Amino acid sequence: MFHGGVVFNPNQRRSIGIGQTRHHPIRHIRALVLNSSYQPVKLISWQRAILLWFQGKVEVLEYHPSDQVTVRSAREEFQVPSVLRLKRFINHRRFTRVKFCRENVYRRDDYRCQYCGEEFNAKELTLDHVVPASKKGRKDWTNMVTACRKCNHRKANRTPLAAGMPLLSEPRVPNWLPPIQTSLKLESLPESWKVYLSGIMDEGFGTLPEDLEDLTG
Ligand SMILES: [Zn+2]
Repeated sequence: MFHGGVVFNPNQRRSIGIGQTRHHPIRHIRALVLNSSYQPVKLISWQRAILLWFQGKVEVLEYHPSDQVTVRSAREEFQVPSVLRLKRFINHRRFTRVKFCRENVYRRDDYRCQYCGEEFNAKELTLDHVVPASKKGRKDWTNMVTACRKCNHRKANRTPLAAGMPLLSEPRVPNWLPPIQTSLKLESLPESWKVYLSGIMDEGFGTLPEDLEDLTG
């Protein structure tokens, strides 16, 4: 709905040089999520912020300045939410439910190829279907493992047994993963966040989890 509809103010566009960098700055725009008690709980992408807003799960307390960024759908132009407050109180356990996604599979496996045991960074890793998709292997926690490109290529379209490549450990559904903490520096935060974060900023520094788990479910 919103993809491709992101509009920057022309003046701002010049000053931040969109089109000159490979990574579009809109990707880095985040929203701060507060619990219904106003306690800061996490940072989420602007896309998820808009989704939560449209689903009616949050009230928008602050917006990013419209002279910096707005989002346009087919018919309307919106300001991008900057601070959201959940309408329903969510306890800590809800935040630690682990979403099935690529990055979380890597994290469960400690960024280690489950065939050769070597550690890699995320860019060098792949997800491997233990039982290949062509043999009806499912895309879930118990059938997806972290594999380096070399092992994935070598295993190809075979089961570990057929390939003679036993797994280091049996893939399981994790019941907990530590959240990814993003460090915050008071001076580099959006102005609209500061008043809400004062409680967690110690001498100008603090951390908050960044969304990998899904709040919306
Ligand atoms: Zn490997």
